Amino acid sequence: MRLTIVGSGDAFGSGGRFNTCFFLETAKATLLVDCGASSLVAMKAHGLDPDRVDGIVLSHLHGDHFGALPFLLLDAQFLARRERPLLIAGPPGTRARLDALLEVFFPRSTANAWRFAWEVKEIDVGRQTDVLGHAVTTTEVVHFSGAPSTALRISDGEKLFAYSGDTEWVDALVAVASGADLFIIECYGYSGRFNGHITWEVLKPRLPDLRAKRIMITHMNPSMLARQDEAKAVGALIAEDGLVLDI
Ligand SMILES: [Zn+2]
Repeated sequence: MRLTIVGSGDAFGSGGRFNTCFFLETAKATLLVDCGASSLVAMKAHGLDPDRVDGIVLSHLHGDHFGALPFLLLDAQFLARRERPLLIAGPPGTRARLDALLEVFFPRSTANAWRFAWEVKEIDVGRQTDVLGHAVTTTEVVHFSGAPSTALRISDGEKLFAYSGDTEWVDALVAVASGADLFIIECYGYSGRFNGHITWEVLKPRLPDLRAKRIMITHMNPSMLARQDEAKAVGALIAEDGLVLDI
């Protein structure tokens, strides 16, 4: 399993980073995990061909995690002239929110005669679901997005990738991380209180509970970006746009 970080930023482009998007080449297929608003631009900037993506798995329905889907679909339709099918998997409510997003950004786009087959698969929270041969299990976390916000575990049968999505600290993250070859966890702020997000002050004492082979921090705001060396000092990896990691 090989991870290329397309975007490791927060919603606001802090540090010049793109919105959340992970390009995951597995034993079964090529997946995107999240597809934030800037992700089509970011993929092209990193030389990653969107046509290689077989499926997209969404942690939750915020613009900085799924907002590029209209651009990705219309690029495939009109510019890339995609022929391969595409599967979009996300939490319950994904289909309706994606249709709304398409219509807001590009009216009548939901009525396109698509030149390639694409479909949405809504993943029941807590129930293992097959996504293109991967075992995907989601866990609901605490982060308001108008639909269940989830953490993800994705296994290709050889390696296990886990991701917190966006959330406050919840003890369920211990099980999400358990046994993962890589666990990516959001750490939005350094200290203080942020609704729906984790801070370093909260995460640091919990790190020993997270039994993943490697832990990587992402989605940092300016205060956390400025103190990222403190996370490195205790062995956490720091997500960077363009970073490639064999899991
Ligand atoms: Zn969010």
